[in-house]
Amino acid sequence: MFVAEDVSMVYQSGGVDTYALRSASARVEQGEFLGLMGPSGSGKSTLLYLFSGLKTPSRGRIWYREHCLSDMAPAQRAVLRQRSFGLIFQMHFLINYLTVLENVLVACPRPTPADVAGAGDLLERFGMAHLRDRLPHQLSGGQRQRVAALRALAARPEVIFADEPTASLDHKTGLDLMQALKEYQRQGGTLVVVTHDPSILEGATRVLKVWDGQLMGLNHT
Ligand code: ADP
Ligand code: MG
Repeated sequence: MFVAEDVSMVYQSGGVDTYALRSASARVEQGEFLGLMGPSGSGKSTLLYLFSGLKTPSRGRIWYREHCLSDMAPAQRAVLRQRSFGLIFQMHFLINYLTVLENVLVACPRPTPADVAGAGDLLERFGMAHLRDRLPHQLSGGQRQRVAALRALAARPEVIFADEPTASLDHKTGLDLMQALKEYQRQGGTLVVVTHDPSILEGATRVLKVWDGQLMGLNHT
């Protein structure tokens, strides 16, 4: 579904070059739950940004089906992302003037009654139903993270990229969230989860290790 072909990513800041990825190659197969594990600074988030088309590599190519993401115009990539990708970031980026329910529905362009009911069910399931009319600043960090995750799930995208999705959650809530993501995958979704915590990758179909900008593990490339 996705192929990263020999990608390198160099960040320039203050005249210093930092290699976040060095000639890394990897694939994401449709319907899998791929885990990306590695220590802080190893390049995990960068790889997610490249797969999801938020950044383009300094060298190499990223393919999504027949599309070369790195050659597409930014606006085209944005359309693709909106239509097909769900993103859960470490920083949750909620819209601060929309309520919890509106934030969950933000990725559904024209919410149908079924979308609204689905969003309500997700909030209920995650113990958030009573918070549906609150604004993000009236929530705890963990609650905001849950809203961001439910927003990705509510739009039923083809693939969900999650960057340390349980980082600001207590253990139980983190496992509940992973349960919901795994259910999405079992129902045919493709799931890519970045973490440094192996316990949240239980049930992953494949785990790649990211180490100093390179990928190791069962890498079918
Ligand atoms: P991880 O998610 O595994 O912690 P990242 O992909 O965030 O790793 O970062 C990989 C490397 O790239 C780190 O050394 C980090 O400091 C560096 N890096 C990431 N983003 C930037 C940036 N915008 N500018 C400069 N260096 C960056
Ligand atoms: Mg990171």
